[in-house]
Amino acid sequence: MTHLLIMILTAACACNVIQVVGVHANKRRPKHGRRGHGRRSTSMRAMPSPEDLFNNWLDTRVDDVMLPPNDTGGLSTSETTPGMLPPDDSGFASAAHGDGVPAAPSQLPSGACGPILVVYLTYGNQKPTKTLAEVQGFFWNVPTTTCLTNFNSIPPWDRPQCSGFNHSLHHNSWGVAWLESADVDFFEMESTEDPANWLQGGFPDLTAVATSVHSQAAYQTQFSTRAYKHTMVIGPGSTYATTAFYPTTEWYSGFSQYFGNAVTWQTFFHEIGHNWGLNHAGGYTSGGTFQEYQDDAIMGYQRSWRPTDTNVVARYRLGWITGADIVEFIRGSDSIAVNLSPLNEGPDGSESLLMKIPCDECVGNVASTTSVGALYLSFRVADAASFYGVSASHTQSGLYDKYSGSLLELVDRVHVHFQPDVSSATELWSTLAEGDTFEISSSTMWIHVCSLDVATFAKVSVSDTSAAMAQIGCTPAPTLAPTPAPTPSPTPVPTQVPTPAPTPAPTMAPTPEPSPAPTPAPTPAPTPSPTSAPTPSPTPAPTQVPTSAPTSAPTPAPTQAPTPTPTMAPTSAPTPAPTPATDAVTDFSRRRHHRRQLRRKYRRRYRRQRRRQHQPKRRRQHRRWHRRQRRRQYRRQRRRQRRH
Ligand SMILES: [Zn+2]
Repeated sequence: MTHLLIMILTAACACNVIQVVGVHANKRRPKHGRRGHGRRSTSMRAMPSPEDLFNNWLDTRVDDVMLPPNDTGGLSTSETTPGMLPPDDSGFASAAHGDGVPAAPSQLPSGACGPILVVYLTYGNQKPTKTLAEVQGFFWNVPTTTCLTNFNSIPPWDRPQCSGFNHSLHHNSWGVAWLESADVDFFEMESTEDPANWLQGGFPDLTAVATSVHSQAAYQTQFSTRAYKHTMVIGPGSTYATTAFYPTTEWYSGFSQYFGNAVTWQTFFHEIGHNWGLNHAGGYTSGGTFQEYQDDAIMGYQRSWRPTDTNVVARYRLGWITGADIVEFIRGSDSIAVNLSPLNEGPDGSESLLMKIPCDECVGNVASTTSVGALYLSFRVADAASFYGVSASHTQSGLYDKYSGSLLELVDRVHVHFQPDVSSATELWSTLAEGDTFEISSSTMWIHVCSLDVATFAKVSVSDTSAAMAQIGCTPAPTLAPTPAPTPSPTPVPTQVPTPAPTPAPTMAPTPEPSPAPTPAPTPAPTPSPTSAPTPSPTPAPTQVPTSAPTSAPTPAPTQAPTPTPTMAPTSAPTPAPTPATDAVTDFSRRRHHRRQLRRKYRRRYRRQRRRQHQPKRRRQHRRWHRRQRRRQYRRQRRRQRRH
């Protein structure tokens, strides 16, 4: 079942494929079993599953990268003379160091990164598996609405049509690198040499292909017209083969080849990635073995049924992640926390895209190169809107945790990559969910995911001391440090400043208006008058009059003239005296009454004034309305009169 499609796809040279499968069978057989082909559901039988296709590529994509001609060295770190690499990995080694070393910073893809010569090669009736129009589509296609909204309804073999190298490149670099249509020349060329001469072990060999193509007159004529950075040979025949050279100063620099089903935009990106100096994106299998193509990324296997993208290390190496988007962990720190925004969201916002943890003692498939080897943390989410990304179906990725051996979930996770050297393959070590703590056992480091929000960022805390410190780093490090500063100082400031300012303003404004007005009026009036008036009058009057009058008058009168005088004296004397006293009392209450009246008058006047102040407009409007009504009435009357 699995190999039915392979037979159809590679019918023309089935012997070659079988030969290679045989060669690598003992190495790769266990993986087939691990992925559980036997457990596939019957609904998947109708068409080859992505996993079937995946395993097809697994058997045929062995040597997509090959060594430059006459190069005695290899591409692994042990063979590329690490001493010749720059002491730090901030940039790539210069091209002068020769083949197998990453591109010089000046050669990294940015801006319009052409020109590219695409050689569409035919030989007699032998043609590439894809038409020239399809090849052009793999450069310029952009995702259609169906691709964006209903991708899974498209048959796997048609899915590569959903995008193109240019769209993918532009997206992966967040607009830093792209291709101009005028910078990609599609050159149809009839080979003068039989492609059969280029086979090695049944597969087209890039050294043979490049040497042959380069030597042909038609190519030389076209090649001399522009300073092409890349030559992509789309070769005839259906045998799968795809290969590229690493950066070199030799004539074959920038050459790559695509045969059979390797003609897809994903593989264009992958091989040009090698031209730029990228190595493979690998990961660990269930058996704990490192597989250099295993990572779900462009630099991994050709997953033509999925819009894969470049992992964080590739984007960093290509110079697309820079500045504040990189937070470097300082070794020896108790903890350093970082907020990582989803990788595909790019360098916008206050969060970072990458935490780099230098790790000389880290050992993956190979050991770290001193002061170069590092761990790279990034945040990946299921981001349908961005089209590209890692698989939401982890069972298809076949990626396992380096230490625990558990199958890795790829979306909504913090990815832990390791790269021992600038030119070596990247390794996905683990993916972490919220609350997970990952211990780097070969080191003394702990990576803890504090929080994870797919819409915003993942907060990660790294400690070089202990797992507990990594977890504590989620809160104390950011909270303790910022809190003392913001809390004590901001609090006194806001409280003092706002309070004095708002309080005087409102109090002063409303108070002056009502308080001066009522207070002066009532207070001066009652206070001076009651105190001065009542006190002097009642006291002098009763005391003086009653005492002097009765005592002096009654005594002399009865003794001297009992009849005539007593009437006169008592009547006149006592009466005048008490009357003024009573009169003083009534006068007091009258004054008090008068004062009250005055106060009421003032109050009324004051209220009237306030009313006038506050409602003049309404009154004016009201009057205007009345005037208008009167005018209308008058007009109506006149009209009526005229009619009559
Ligand atoms: Zn490759």
